[in-house]
Amino acid sequence: MDVMFNKTRETMPRKDLRELQLKQLKKTVKTVYDTVPFYQREFKKLGVTPSDIKTLDDIRKLPFTTKNDLRDNAPFGMMATSLDSCVELHASSGTTGIPVTACYTPNDIEVWSEVMARCLVMSGLRKNDIFQNPIPYGTFTGAFGFHYGAQKVGSLVIPTGKGQSERQISLMEYYGTTFISGVASYALRLGQVALEMGKDPKQLKVRNGLFGAEMFTKGLKQRLVDMWNMDVHDIYGLTEMCGPGVSTDCDQHDGLHLWEDHFFVEIIDPKTLEPVGVEEEGEMVLTTLTKEGMPLLRYRTRDIAKLFDQEVCECGRTHVKHSTIKARSDDMVIIRGTNIYPGQIESALMKHEQVGSNWRMVLTTEKDADQLTVEVETKAVLSKNDADQLTKQLMRDIQNVLVFTPRVAVVPPNSIPETGLKAKRVIDQRIRE
Ligand SMILES: [Zn+2]
Repeated sequence: MDVMFNKTRETMPRKDLRELQLKQLKKTVKTVYDTVPFYQREFKKLGVTPSDIKTLDDIRKLPFTTKNDLRDNAPFGMMATSLDSCVELHASSGTTGIPVTACYTPNDIEVWSEVMARCLVMSGLRKNDIFQNPIPYGTFTGAFGFHYGAQKVGSLVIPTGKGQSERQISLMEYYGTTFISGVASYALRLGQVALEMGKDPKQLKVRNGLFGAEMFTKGLKQRLVDMWNMDVHDIYGLTEMCGPGVSTDCDQHDGLHLWEDHFFVEIIDPKTLEPVGVEEEGEMVLTTLTKEGMPLLRYRTRDIAKLFDQEVCECGRTHVKHSTIKARSDDMVIIRGTNIYPGQIESALMKHEQVGSNWRMVLTTEKDADQLTVEVETKAVLSKNDADQLTKQLMRDIQNVLVFTPRVAVVPPNSIPETGLKAKRVIDQRIRE
């Protein structure tokens, strides 16, 4: 059995886990019904009261919560406690509008640290590790979640924060960092910077990495493993739940264990809003079971995944596993009438040894039609001949995924501008009438 942060909870028999969930669900429903005007209105519309929740299946009687509901009630309208009871505020990015704001009570911070500690230990973090956290510290949840979790495990946290890749590498070497966090694409970038500095990432002491905040494909994961000689785990989370810490993959690497004592998961068909079967893909919907500051019922994450049908995992944990997030429905782009997710393109690119860490899709309008150009950095500068050959191979591989032939522009290393923490994969310059 794996080493675990909280063995009692992580291996809890499913029957007990379901009982605990029902108890917590009833409590959460009563709390929001008594304190949050938005839920009072929604319950009334549906003709539901807290006493209607008798089994876990009764959750389907409850209203959904969407990102728009959070925006309509921003910043503090969804709170179930007074601001006086809160000790920390975080907010998600406002790239698509008003940021999502969440305030944490001391117990919310405690729960967040606990679930993060479980995720980190599952990824190999131990008390004697030196944990480097190259994530911007600020209102985003990422850096603090990892920071609190790693401290709870008892490892030594180096809060290096944002960017400055060369400095990150120097500090890794200087302090003997053994575990890193962040975003997978940035870890790949860091490895490349190390190579440019004349250092082989494999010669550094980093042996584990836990990465989240963006989807990453098996291909990208394998690249990180090969580049750093480290084990790579995938973490999932969102500000609306707590931040990172909702789920992580164990050493089986075939799905992410979701902490069901704190979150209740459903998978629904995003069109009919009806539940889909086990092992069927759909939108992940999450209900908080222990949150005090901003508890949410049936929050529509927009993330597409499926649940696996398995009682107990090889690792010993009993909490349900979900597939890696296949897509974030917000990231989907429609090109010439076809739905395309950046991950599909990335899978095609990452098969090629010569392809570097950065790439993007540029969408334009030409002769009234959508045109897609995939810009791809190479690891090293290629001869014209090699570049031409790679371009042809990439066009063919991407065409297999799409239904049309895109343009491919193979460019030298560091030609695509860096976009900060999360890689910006889609540049949409299409003309819209
Ligand atoms: Zn497992």
